Amino acid sequence: MSLDNLRDLYQQVILEHYKKPRHRGRTNPVHRQQRGHNPSCGDTIELTVKLNETGERIEDVKFEGSGCAIAMASADLMAEALIGRSIDEALKMVQHFQKMMKGEAEFPKEQRKLNVMRGVSQFPVRIKCATLTWHTLKAALESVPGSNTDGFVSNENES
Ligand code: ZN
Repeated sequence: MSLDNLRDLYQQVILEHYKKPRHRGRTNPVHRQQRGHNPSCGDTIELTVKLNETGERIEDVKFEGSGCAIAMASADLMAEALIGRSIDEALKMVQHFQKMMKGEAEFPKEQRKLNVMRGVSQFPVRIKCATLTWHTLKAALESVPGSNTDGFVSNENES
C-alpha cells in the first residue's frame, strides 16, 4: 500500500469515528469527570469515566462535546482504547500519545488503532485538537474524587 493510500485510509477511519462515534454520552455511574477546551480551534469536550470496584481500572469512558473531526474522532478512539486499562496504563498512554504527536513514537500492536492519529503530527495547528481528549483524561484521572470539576482544563499552554 502506498503512503498516500495509507493516509487516505487513516482519514477514512477518523471521519468514520467522527460521524458514528461509539462512545458518546455519559458513563453510569460517573466516577471521574472533566471538561476540556482547546481555544485554538474551539473544541470542547466533557469526559466521564467509570472505574471498577477497587478504583484501579477503567471500566468505561464516554465523551460529550463539540469540535472538529480530529478532536471528536480522537476522543472516540481514546475511549475505545482505554476500556479495561488500569489507571497507570492509561496515564502512560497519555504520554505515549503526546510523543506520537511529536513524531517520536507509535502504539504497539494491541493499541495500533490509535496510530491512525499519527498523521496529525504533520499538521502542527491540529495537534492540540488530537491531544485535547488525552489532556482532559489526565486531568480527570488525577483529580480527587468529589472535588469541584466544574472548571475547564485548557491545553493552550501545552508545548
Ligand atoms: Zn479542533
